[in-house]
Amino acid sequence: MPQQDSAHAGRRVCVTGSTQGIGLGIARAFARSGARLVLNAHIPDDGGALAQLSGQAEAHYVRADLATRDGCRALIAGAAERLGGGLDTLVCNAGGFFDTPLDQLDADALDRTFDLNVKGYLYCAQAFAEQARPGASIVLIGSTNSLAAEKDSVAYDASKGAVLMLVRSLAVSLAERGIRVNGVGPGLVETPLTQAGLDRPGVRARVTSQIPAGRLGQPDDIGGAVRFLASDDAAYITGQMLYVDGGILAQQMSWSPA
Ligand code: NAD
Repeated sequence: MPQQDSAHAGRRVCVTGSTQGIGLGIARAFARSGARLVLNAHIPDDGGALAQLSGQAEAHYVRADLATRDGCRALIAGAAERLGGGLDTLVCNAGGFFDTPLDQLDADALDRTFDLNVKGYLYCAQAFAEQARPGASIVLIGSTNSLAAEKDSVAYDASKGAVLMLVRSLAVSLAERGIRVNGVGPGLVETPLTQAGLDRPGVRARVTSQIPAGRLGQPDDIGGAVRFLASDDAAYITGQMLYVDGGILAQQMSWSPA
């Protein structure tokens, strides 16, 4: 059962890529903690995400394409304007998977992957840091793919590996300004991004059987971890990646018959 508390009461929080999936789960977690929110995506808001939060929290929407530096700067400026002051928390979540089998991987797929998953995070963090006060915090969404590779996922894997070092590098660079930077690495989470793959015959049961926790992740599982890392309970935690994966990364290959 998701927790309700006041850990982020009145804080100004921006979550990128938050009209659906993990980003929306993160926004819901902050809403339950009393935060004031800005949601974002590159497409017009159809009202669905804001409607989910209405009555729970103050929430605004800023449309911006975070695959460009201008888009990232426009998001941070727009979010600060909507919320009437400097932002306290930034969650970089907007990401995508553009891989093909290795032999067909071209410059376009690589550029799309790195523009959004890596440069977009960096430019948003940079703009956020310019306006943030001591005590502010950034959480970057990585993946179990930050540490472990998947077949035909070369660009995505490399981009999520880069997120791990962005967490550490930004944490070290921003520590003297009193800004903490951490990451959350989801395992396999049920979202629109993964839905089509999970719905292929037999896939859901096969992947679930390989997760020690015995179930797929849900966006609210990720939201709770992000909310903790951005809270004062985590005041001495910076430069860390917390994997929220139901035990996927903890598991060795098994000797026992399936
Ligand atoms: P999703 O595709 O369901 O949602 C992505 C969100 O980002 C949407 O709101 C979309 O509109 C937005 N977005 C896409 N391109 C954008 C752009 N150019 N500018 C601004 N917003 C944009 O994805 P998800 O599964 O919720 O994944 C969210 C994050 O979590 C990603 O960084 C992904 O790599 C990571 N992740 C997901 C899983 C998983 O199993 N779903 C696992 C590990 C990590």
